[in-house]
Amino acid sequence: NSYTLVAEDPVGYRAQVSPTRKAVHVLPGGYSLTFQELDQRISRCAAVLYEMFRFRGDHIRVASLGRNSIDLLVLAFACQRIRAIFVPLNWRLGAAELESIVADCEPELVVYEPEFEAVGKALGAASAKRATIPFTGSEDSLDARIARAEPMKRLKADADTPSVLLYTSGTTGTPKGVILTRKNLFCAAVNFSFVGEVVPGSVTFCDLPFFHTIGLVAIARTTLMMGGTLVISDRFVPERTISCLNDDDLGITHYFAVPQMASMLRDHPGFAPERMRRLKAIFIGGAPLPPPLVEAYLKDGIALVNGYGMSEAGTVMHMPLDELAIATRHGSVGFPAPLIEVRISRDTGEEAEVDEVGELWIRGPSVSPGYWNKPELTQAAFTDGWFRTGDMARRDSDGFYMLADRLKDMYISGGENVYPAEVEAVIAGHSDVAEVAVIGVADDRWGETGAAFVVSRGGSSVDPAQLQALCKARLATFKCPSHILIVDSIPRNAAGKPLKHVLRQNWRAA
Ligand code: ATP
Ligand code: MG
Repeated sequence: NSYTLVAEDPVGYRAQVSPTRKAVHVLPGGYSLTFQELDQRISRCAAVLYEMFRFRGDHIRVASLGRNSIDLLVLAFACQRIRAIFVPLNWRLGAAELESIVADCEPELVVYEPEFEAVGKALGAASAKRATIPFTGSEDSLDARIARAEPMKRLKADADTPSVLLYTSGTTGTPKGVILTRKNLFCAAVNFSFVGEVVPGSVTFCDLPFFHTIGLVAIARTTLMMGGTLVISDRFVPERTISCLNDDDLGITHYFAVPQMASMLRDHPGFAPERMRRLKAIFIGGAPLPPPLVEAYLKDGIALVNGYGMSEAGTVMHMPLDELAIATRHGSVGFPAPLIEVRISRDTGEEAEVDEVGELWIRGPSVSPGYWNKPELTQAAFTDGWFRTGDMARRDSDGFYMLADRLKDMYISGGENVYPAEVEAVIAGHSDVAEVAVIGVADDRWGETGAAFVVSRGGSSVDPAQLQALCKARLATFKCPSHILIVDSIPRNAAGKPLKHVLRQNWRAA
């Protein structure tokens, strides 16, 4: 029962139905392309790749190392047109980390931005089977080749054809290559268009990198598929973002951020919420969203909506954009997206009751078939067709979902489960706290107890005794961390997520 999907090439479809509409707008520079122009560029890029690979495409991996740009988008969609697999590399990783990813997925071609030339060339030099070329800047660059090429027609492909290999953030271990098929990508974009209310006429702004699911799938693919305009920025610069959101000509309707970015924007002296006139909401994801930040934004008249997703499935759940829900359902990630089926499971595999925390299992057409080169990991991640997310969650009686924490970060103190995220939310509420991460550590009396690593807010120095008192007032005794350590910084991965396994290792070594 194989089939192809008509609209899964979002740009091709839109170029047919609304060719002159603005597809992409780039910052800095303010350069833009219509759907027809973007489509033409993609067809020519497809021809370049097809010829380079001796007129084959199937399953060949093509990696990119670059900041957000039209060139990178063109490469991504061109790969899809010749049935090759696009691998967006995370340029924030070090050379050794990148080499291990590239050794895992063995691309035939790595296209790098001139800024990353040294790493790009080193990746090429490490294996004779990999070609490397720059995006721009020379005769053999992808840009120059595209300029010389004739457009080619896309090759038809089955919906289950792998299209993107997206490496996870590596928060719980080594990054894993998530295989995303055309069907997965199309359905993930449909899911986000529903929950994010992305429609023709939407103008989305993306200064989050394209190498994570939120940038590549939720923002870029969904916007283009729906015939909206995608505004891209090559980096997060608070002033630039603010002036973009304030710009009536651009008319941004959707902005996306991780919690730290939203907090930096609001603290910026130029922050002017009254000028963000067309903005529907700021979409938050990737890490727990502190309730005080939501309240602060709501006072400014801006909805901060929390969404939960992952590389393996794109958007899984999302808060509705409804203000009442945002104001009254703090800490919730809302409802499942329309094409996702959700189940909260006990350790025994039975379904949990309302309000009972268990592991979140998901199923549906946006869920990846598995990890590249890792059959054991893939097998371990699925039970009876359900993908076990490794995240703990509960559902309340109104159907709203609340995340507890990652299963791997949960610890047991005196026989009771503690989810560090809950403790972190309390400590983060103290005005002198800039960052906090809580881990479970061995304890003679309770088996395990909490250790909180706290970074003070600029200039101030937070008093551990005050934080202890705050926890006692707000949390059950078994959840109060026995150890509070004031530190200069918390180790984070390239996605900005705290590396708790590193904190645990350091604790054991100390
Ligand atoms: P790895 O799988 O390599 O350990 P990772 O899980 O951090 O890394 P991603 O796929 O980028 O890699 O992130 C998905 C995870 O991020 C989710 O499983 C969840 O733990 C966390 N997450 C996503 N959205 C939210 C959110 N809104 N609130 C809290 N946590 C979130
Ligand atoms: Mg993960």
